[in-house]
Amino acid sequence: MTASAETLAALSAIVGPAHLVTAAGELEKYERDWRGRYRGATLCAVRPDSADQVAAVVRYARAARIAVVPQGGNTGMSAGALPPAALANVVLCLDRMDKLREIDPAGNTITVEAGCTLAAIQQQAAAHGRLFPMALGSQGSCQIGGNISTNAGGTAVLRFGNMRDLVLGLEVVLPDGRLWSGLRALRKDNTGYDLKQLFIGAEGTLGVVTAAVLKLFPQPKGRVAAWVGLDSLQHAVELLGCLQESCGERLSSFEVMSRGQLDLVLHHIPGTRDPLKSAHPWAVLLEATDSRAGTDLADHIQDTLAGAMNAGLLQDAAVAASERQVAEFWRLRDSVSEANRNSGYSVSHDTSVPIARIPEFVQRATAALRARRSDPQVVAVGHVGDGNIHLVAIFPRAGKDATELQREADAASAEVHRIAAELGGSISAEHGIGGAKRDELKLYKDPLELGLMQGIKSLLDPGNLMNPGKLLDLPSEARLADRR
Ligand SMILES: Cc1cc2nc3c(=O)[nH]c(=O)nc-3n(C[C@H](O)[C@H](O)[C@H](O)COP(=O)(O)OP(=O)(O)OC[C@H]3O[C@@H](n4cnc5c(N)ncnc54)[C@H](O)[C@@H]3O)c2cc1C
Repeated sequence: MTASAETLAALSAIVGPAHLVTAAGELEKYERDWRGRYRGATLCAVRPDSADQVAAVVRYARAARIAVVPQGGNTGMSAGALPPAALANVVLCLDRMDKLREIDPAGNTITVEAGCTLAAIQQQAAAHGRLFPMALGSQGSCQIGGNISTNAGGTAVLRFGNMRDLVLGLEVVLPDGRLWSGLRALRKDNTGYDLKQLFIGAEGTLGVVTAAVLKLFPQPKGRVAAWVGLDSLQHAVELLGCLQESCGERLSSFEVMSRGQLDLVLHHIPGTRDPLKSAHPWAVLLEATDSRAGTDLADHIQDTLAGAMNAGLLQDAAVAASERQVAEFWRLRDSVSEANRNSGYSVSHDTSVPIARIPEFVQRATAALRARRSDPQVVAVGHVGDGNIHLVAIFPRAGKDATELQREADAASAEVHRIAAELGGSISAEHGIGGAKRDELKLYKDPLELGLMQGIKSLLDPGNLMNPGKLLDLPSEARLADRR
């Protein structure tokens, strides 16, 4: 895909020549997804440093019938930030918009530009004695604009909710180039439709998020983490209930992984080790925090784990004795995606089901995957408290080309999604729909809901030039790429 001299000159005039990326070698990172599964193509990438520049790029692109693909850290799992090879498009990369605009410790809010990485926001909050609780394995690279646009979940949803629960206000460049400044830091504002919620989880299809006001919380003063070995997923669900009863809302994370998943991490990630002496079919990493120091949190956890062990719910447990050990436990959990990426052709599912149905879902979906002719290895990891289990199928590559593998993966995923839906679940708990699940969405979304979503999209972006091909299957007015 080649850009005309006129397009390059116009975009260069907006962002400056140093921030217009056109060289094929440099464009590659914007044209691939994190897993290396999908490949797109773009005319160029632009790196604006202000909302005004974003608005000017969007206005130019609209007039020239060029699609705009907002891209954050490009760590998304649904090919949502992938530029469509068939349409003339520009990747709008937010990485230079990484400024802290304001922090208000008294009001417990922070106002940041969309290109700030999640880790940078956590650090800023901590430096002011506050917590920004969203936590993902990708936090060093993903950006808050991407987190907002995917309504990211992660490992602390149990206590703090997902991204939708953590945003107070937004600033957005609309598909026609107007700037909507909804950067209000109010916790109460009943003045009609809550428009910011439209853009949260919209996957860049309704506009470009340029800044956000986020909620902060007191920094925890007490923290207890434990690694637990269990013989069944049913026991993990029961253990969650016991801990919620004894610790209440202080339980912030309850993550599970199958033995096969832990073995992949231990094999592929240097310097990791199993916290327990013997192997168990399932492991849980739990964490509870308290904003007050010197409470009885540790005693509660120890007592609950001891009681659960007596009741036969768990086989072994290690309570972290230091912050270093807490970090070691979390490294095992946070390295899962990287380990799976290195394990072969891995296909991760992002389903959620009601918590009580997790064991049945995993049992049925695992059996369905193992019954396939290609006989993939099946492992599981996820957030039990959110009903969100990522069932991962790792297909042997031997003798298969990418198209064959993709076909096999799609057929396997269709079965997993069907089972989740049968159990009252969702085909996308936290990663979004993007381009990867767009066609399947039509099978599971209520036609009335889908129609309303299309209506909103058409109202804000009648030409479908803002991230076309993602989430919804609608025609775009963008020029065809091969007409250039
Ligand atoms: C190791 C690893 C662990 C992960 N763990 C989790 C997890 O636990 N929970 C979870 O939810 N996800 C997880 N993810 C997925 C991913 O990190 C999240 O989806 C994240 O929110 C994406 O942020 P990003 O900045 O990388 O967005 P991108 O991948 O760049 O984009 C994602 C979507 O958002 C849109 N977008 C990006 N920025 C903007 C913007 N400023 N305005 C409008 N639209 C925008 C894009 O167009 C695209 O549709 C993980 C990924 C990796 C690699």
